[in-house]
Amino acid sequence: MSLPSKKAIQVDENTTKYVYRMLNHEMELIFHEDKCLECGFCHRVCPVTVSIRDEIYKKTAIGTPKEMRIESDKKIVVDTEKCVWCGCCTWICPGYTLELFINGEKKLNLVDNGSLPEFDEEVRTLENGQKVRKVVEGSITITCNEKDAKVIDAFCDECAVGALSRKDKKIEIDKDKCILCFKCSEAAQNYDNISVKIFRDRFKKVKGEPSSVWNGIMLRVLGKEGKIKGIMSRSQNKLADAVMRLLAKEETIKEE
Ligand code: SF4
Ligand code: SF4
Ligand code: SF4
Repeated sequence: MSLPSKKAIQVDENTTKYVYRMLNHEMELIFHEDKCLECGFCHRVCPVTVSIRDEIYKKTAIGTPKEMRIESDKKIVVDTEKCVWCGCCTWICPGYTLELFINGEKKLNLVDNGSLPEFDEEVRTLENGQKVRKVVEGSITITCNEKDAKVIDAFCDECAVGALSRKDKKIEIDKDKCILCFKCSEAAQNYDNISVKIFRDRFKKVKGEPSSVWNGIMLRVLGKEGKIKGIMSRSQNKLADAVMRLLAKEETIKEE
């Protein structure tokens, strides 16, 4: 039995354990830096949001050092003061980069109690042997007016799952590989002649029924699309897709 404590433990160069010990209960959130795809899904689903000193800015318990306003060279950091060890970040992580252990057992209580459904996994293996899964479906469009092949190659390298490649002066997207993570759309802000539009229409197939937790997560991950995703029938979903793509087109035209 130990006194309550929360701490981050650097296990090795690639592994950080975020530990909460409370009397005879121990929870560990483990982050594997080398597997992180920098996709940002964990930040989006974390249920903890705190306004900081009345600023509009909201803080979750996990995110990039920039999002967390923490000085660190890690891709992702966890604030042990805010984290509640719920495992939502673990549940969605497409790179199997996060793990939650409760009293030494790998566990996701929110799935076990039916609050979150399980993903119907479609796992792919990257060239480096890492397992990756897609958790959402949608569309991605890249407009490239860049003429410098080196710049295009550098942009394609931004994708952690190898979904982008250059063909002459064009960027090709392997839509089966793309996990719709927004990393390239954020990176495009540093490229004058490349723009990216990504729309997440729906989650991949899941096992289980939606709950109130699930609905909240849909909104945070899918945004406005999440509301339309509440429609359950196949034909209505098709209609929703068509509407979202039309909206996407309109936005693209407006910005050009
Ligand atoms: S375990 Fe829950 S509270 Fe902690 S970082 Fe992950 S999603 Fe946020
Ligand atoms: S969801 Fe997983 S892979 Fe994506 S940024 Fe978070 S820890 Fe990295
Ligand atoms: S192409 Fe873009 S959105 Fe798709 S996986 Fe790569 S970085 Fe993410």
